[in-house]
Amino acid sequence: MPESTEIARIADRDGVALVPVGATEQHGPHLSVTTDTVIAAAFAAAASARVAKDVATWVLPAIPFGYSPEHAGRPGTISLSPDTLLALADDIGRGVAASGIRRLLFVNGHGGNPELLHVACRQLRERRGLAAFAVHVPGLPLPPELTEGVTTGDLDAHAGHYETSVMLSLDPAAVRRDAARADGLAEVTAAAASLTRPFGAVSVPWHVDDLSASGVIGDPTTADAGWGARAFAAQAATLADIVRAVAAHSLPPEWVHSRRGDAE
Ligand SMILES: [Zn+2]
Repeated sequence: MPESTEIARIADRDGVALVPVGATEQHGPHLSVTTDTVIAAAFAAAASARVAKDVATWVLPAIPFGYSPEHAGRPGTISLSPDTLLALADDIGRGVAASGIRRLLFVNGHGGNPELLHVACRQLRERRGLAAFAVHVPGLPLPPELTEGVTTGDLDAHAGHYETSVMLSLDPAAVRRDAARADGLAEVTAAAASLTRPFGAVSVPWHVDDLSASGVIGDPTTADAGWGARAFAAQAATLADIVRAVAAHSLPPEWVHSRRGDAE
């Protein structure tokens, strides 16, 4: 973590604040409740290293909690209320702005956070004058050769092939492979058949209890450290391109910010 003087230099270079956002929630019997936070922090660090020659970045400490009502009631789940997450994002953005950094990117690892982070980014623009963005990194596209023969999308929603593979590549000792079991595949397929696009155009406030006894939605038994490393590298490269785009993005005009004051 940089010192204050280094952060001032990052501000002088029109740098970007990278804020990893995770969750603390059940991830089945084989992955840690910290999985989303570990993955978000690893992506932010990897992207920062990839852009180091062109873009100054400040990788902030990861927010270890997110919005996880869909895993409420399972041991290990600690969900922020929406108001708390929005207030936390605003406080962090205020401190980033006061440090002289006007571009911020939330690097998110938990699927329940994006809607709130989109609201947070709008508030940070209007209230703090930041060019604020959020990216859900596990949702970034994978090369076609990585999506053949494995469960993807809604059938890989939680603690399945993707997350288990990435964790095997980042921290194999943290994965209990012997406890990994597929779950929820038939339930998700049935739910998808009953709606046009269940987790896309149509909002479905699912709870894990609707879909899975174990807490897993997907098939972690196919997980592979090599696949996880390739997926991580591909998405980290895309994330680095996004960081470069954020660094080059125009800032909200100062006069608009000061006139609008505390506009929501
Ligand atoms: Zn997760």
